[in-house]
Amino acid sequence: MALVVEGTRIGGELRSTLLSDVMPGEVLIRTIFVGLCTTDREIFNGTLRRFSAGKNHILPGHETVGQVVRKGCGTDGINIGDFVVPTVRRGCDECVNCAEGRSDFCSTGKFTERGIIKEDGFMCSYFKEEPKNLVVIPAELYEYAVFLEPMSIVQKAFSEAANAQKNRIPTRDTESNVFKKCLIAGCGTIGLMAAYYMNINKIAFTGIDTASEGSLKAKQIRSLGGEYIAVQQREDSGKPANLNVNEKFDLIIEAGGSAPLSFALLDKLLPNGILVLLGLPGEEKELTIPGNRLCNSFVMNNNMIIGAVNANRSHFMKALEVLQKISEQHGNLFLNLITHRFPFQQFETALKVSGENRVKVVLEMQKAKGAAPC
Ligand SMILES: [Zn+2]
Ligand SMILES: [Zn+2]
Repeated sequence: MALVVEGTRIGGELRSTLLSDVMPGEVLIRTIFVGLCTTDREIFNGTLRRFSAGKNHILPGHETVGQVVRKGCGTDGINIGDFVVPTVRRGCDECVNCAEGRSDFCSTGKFTERGIIKEDGFMCSYFKEEPKNLVVIPAELYEYAVFLEPMSIVQKAFSEAANAQKNRIPTRDTESNVFKKCLIAGCGTIGLMAAYYMNINKIAFTGIDTASEGSLKAKQIRSLGGEYIAVQQREDSGKPANLNVNEKFDLIIEAGGSAPLSFALLDKLLPNGILVLLGLPGEEKELTIPGNRLCNSFVMNNNMIIGAVNANRSHFMKALEVLQKISEQHGNLFLNLITHRFPFQQFETALKVSGENRVKVVLEMQKAKGAAPC
């Protein structure tokens, strides 16, 4: 059974699709969990439609964990019963970055993304994939693995900023001294992954979000040793947001997807500080900024803005190490981030879950076989 979003109607429908047998170089994977995020909601509500040429539909789902059930020849290194997480982006076969396994830096723009851009995703009972696009997960971590894709985004954000900082200031040479104080703007799944990342790497951090002081997001931030500041959601006035944050930071990770927020964050950078933008604000809107003041401040303080999208397999591998440490140090606290679970058939209800205590909504596709209980 697969879930297909048609281009001609809003919403999805359940369909049965017959898969051909596995070909050499492929493995067949039984889907266990699929996580939902804003991208999926945009695909379902019709605001994000990137179908391949000649098609008017896509199978959504890009955050998943599954179990290998069949192997084609030439798939050494991966075994039947292995838990696996697929990466999302597939390279263009034209540019040097894609050829070197850095499709996250594809320079032609002709890449595809499973479940998002032109290529079917994982909201189905079984899918096929090549081992080079899979990360094998230790069995005891399979329930954590639905967070591997969002954690890979945070890993890339941090790596990009840390590499830049180490080049500019060589005395900042280790993961834990490269940044002293981080601001996480937006505490949804990505923001909370960043909070765990900072906790594991012993970097002080503050989280801001519109969720209330008593929300799950606020509690998670505080229990990881961070400060939480609830910022008010104001009418979009076409100006940078007015943030009630007094401190300044040498790393800011923006995960709110709001241009008024992003431009307000420029004022919160310390000298030599770096702002990493991860959110996509979507529809076109005008914004008036104090341009001269921001330019002056940016130049005088050696500030840097980095935009970061997607993540490659090396980020997934590093993110897996982070999840391993989280499971050792935080166990169930982390799994509380799965706030809602639904069987696959209830995908429409799952997509409608909202409110400040929603973090990760997971579709339970099928039970894992022979897995250690989490
Ligand atoms: Zn996502
Ligand atoms: Zn490319």
